[in-house]
Amino acid sequence: MIAVLRNGVTKDQMDNLITWLRSQNIDVHISQGAYQTVLGLIGDTTKIDIDLLSGLDIVESVMRVTEPFKSANRKFHPDDTVVTVGEGENAVKIGGGNFAIIAGPCSVESEEQIITVAKAVKASGATLLRGGAFKPRTSPYDFQGLRAEGLELLTKAKEATGLPIVTEIMNADHIPLFENVDLIQVGARNMQNFELLKELGRQKKPILLKRGLAATIKELLMSAEYIMAGGNENVILCERGIRSYDTYTRNVLDLSAIPVLRGLTHLPIIVDPSHATGVAKLVKPMAMAATAAGADGLIIEVHNDPKNALCDGAQSLTPEQFDDVSKRVSEIRKILAK
Ligand code: PEP
Ligand code: MN
Repeated sequence: MIAVLRNGVTKDQMDNLITWLRSQNIDVHISQGAYQTVLGLIGDTTKIDIDLLSGLDIVESVMRVTEPFKSANRKFHPDDTVVTVGEGENAVKIGGGNFAIIAGPCSVESEEQIITVAKAVKASGATLLRGGAFKPRTSPYDFQGLRAEGLELLTKAKEATGLPIVTEIMNADHIPLFENVDLIQVGARNMQNFELLKELGRQKKPILLKRGLAATIKELLMSAEYIMAGGNENVILCERGIRSYDTYTRNVLDLSAIPVLRGLTHLPIIVDPSHATGVAKLVKPMAMAATAAGADGLIIEVHNDPKNALCDGAQSLTPEQFDDVSKRVSEIRKILAK
């Protein structure tokens, strides 16, 4: 971290600041110019409050030269992390060249629905099954999910197909209910629910962390850091679009987040073209583009009867449409491998 001091700062003022920094275990390198003094702060600067330092009368500006995330940082862990989801012969690896397709309905609605969709997506190449049981809905009057019963139905679909299951958690008190869940999703609305993230950091299960509605890439990585700092290193990041002013799509899919994250972190990166676009016909081109841009996988909403879906029908693919997307994605992967 670099702190540029204001012109005319006295030696006493500077010494006070340096003494305080050293008390925080930060070593200080002083560069004294004709007009300005620049302090190089060396050590673990993650604990330094950059706003507090910039706000001091004698400080003109402060810049970070290293990122505040450590565990998620590729600098300290150059190899890609490979996260294993599920157990035994049905375990699926994600990251480091292992591509995963997670597919299934927005919400689990009935036993018949989830098992029908699970079988269909498996036949078309999906390697994990998604389905919301606890749903974060904008309106309290909308379908809130089947909750604990939804988790039981997902377990039945896992037994019927062997697909590991992915579902969203909204409350740390629900963790005991998630015993059979293989990959716990933190949805966009909870990306900065720090108490939930801390609790998930104490778990062993892998976590799928979705980017917040208007979160920066750094904020996403800092949220991953919360989980990892607690000891759970099995984090998969998910780009699902960010809020914009346009109304033709639900969100704006930030495809550049894939290569940017690839450089910054060793964690696997998957893309959700369904929530990013909100429109079924846009899912295929965006799934293909995300694959071409280097994603480690996709999460796609598929429903047996989108028109009558209890949640997110407009962006849900039919099993036939999903089959087509899956084939196109696999063709792109073959080209990338050449
Ligand atoms: C979901 O995956 O069903 C969901 C609610 O996604 P997001 O948190 O990205 O909106
Ligand atoms: Mn949804």
